[in-house]
Amino acid sequence: MKIIREPSVYLVGKQTTNDSEIDRFLDDHDVDNWSSDTDVAGQKLCEIAGRVCYMSFAKPRPGGNEAYLDRIINVRHGSVLEHCVWNFIFTGVSRSFTHELIRHRAGFGYSQLSQRYVDESVADYVEPACIAEDAELHAVWLAAVEHAQEAYVKLVAGLNHKFAGIEDKTQRRKLSRQAARSVLPNATETKIFVTANARALRHFIELRANEHAETEIRVVASNVLEILLTEAPNLFGDYDFTPLPDQTRAAQTKNTKV
Ligand SMILES: Cc1cc2nc3c(=O)[nH]c(=O)nc-3n(C[C@H](O)[C@H](O)[C@H](O)COP(=O)(O)OP(=O)(O)OC[C@H]3O[C@@H](n4cnc5c(N)ncnc54)[C@H](O)[C@@H]3O)c2cc1C
Repeated sequence: MKIIREPSVYLVGKQTTNDSEIDRFLDDHDVDNWSSDTDVAGQKLCEIAGRVCYMSFAKPRPGGNEAYLDRIINVRHGSVLEHCVWNFIFTGVSRSFTHELIRHRAGFGYSQLSQRYVDESVADYVEPACIAEDAELHAVWLAAVEHAQEAYVKLVAGLNHKFAGIEDKTQRRKLSRQAARSVLPNATETKIFVTANARALRHFIELRANEHAETEIRVVASNVLEILLTEAPNLFGDYDFTPLPDQTRAAQTKNTKV
C-alpha cells in the first residue's frame, strides 16, 4: 500500500488548428489581411470564434490575439472561451477529491477509474498533509485505512465465494467488487481523465484555487492553472497567485465568472 501526499496533473491533449480550412474560410469571405499572431491553437480558435460573431476580420484593432482575448474576457463574452479545450489526467487524488471535482458540470467531461471493474485490494491512499505531519494523527489514519483495506479483501473473497455459481468471471468479480467497495474510505486513490474548455476551467480555478476550497482540490486547481499560464497565457494570464499559510496557493483575477 502506497501513501500519496501530492497529486499528479498530466496535460495529455490539446487542440490543433486546420490552417488550410481557416484560410479557405477567410478566402471565401474576401478576407486577405488577417492572420493570428498566436501559435496556441486554442487561443487562435477562440479569436476566430469571437471574430465570426461580428465578422471583424477585415479591420482588426491593434494588439493581436492577446489584446483581443483580453477584451473578450473583460466584456464577459464567455461563450467564446468554450471553443478551446484541454485534456488532463489527474492521478494520486482521493475519491473525496473527485467527488468535489465532478460537481463542475458545464464544459467538463470525465472518465474515472471504475471500482466495479478494477481490483482495489492493491489500492493506494491519499493522506491529507495536516494528518501526515502529526505522528499521532498519522497512526490513527493509517490504522483506519489498513483496517478498511483488510475488510475489502475479505469481503471480495467472501462475495466471490457467494457468487461462485455465476459462470461469467467478469460479472462475478464486478458483483463482488461493487459491493465490497462500500467499505473503502474517501482516501482511496483514484485516477480521472478530465476534458474541459477554457471558460469552465476559469470557473473551476476561481472556485477551487481559492482559500475557502478544500486543500487537495486547491492544490490540483493551482497546478492546472500553472500549466495553463504557460500553455495559454492570453486566456489565463489575468490570474495571480498568492501564497497561503499552509504552503498552498490561491489564485485571483478581477475577471471572475466570465
Ligand atoms: C468552498 C466550496 C464549498 C462547497 N460546499 C458544498 C457543500 O457543502 N455541498 C454541496 O453540495 N456542494 C458544495 N460545493 C459545490 C458547489 O455547490 C458547486 O456544486 C460546485 O462548486 C460547482 O459549481 P457550479 O455549479 O457553479 O459549476 P458548474 O456545474 O460547472 O456550472 C457552471 C455555471 O453554469 C451555470 N449552471 C450550471 N448548471 C446549471 C443549471 N442546472 N441551472 C442553471 N445554471 C447552471 C451556473 O452559472 C454555474 O455557476 C462547494 C463548493 C465550494 C467551492
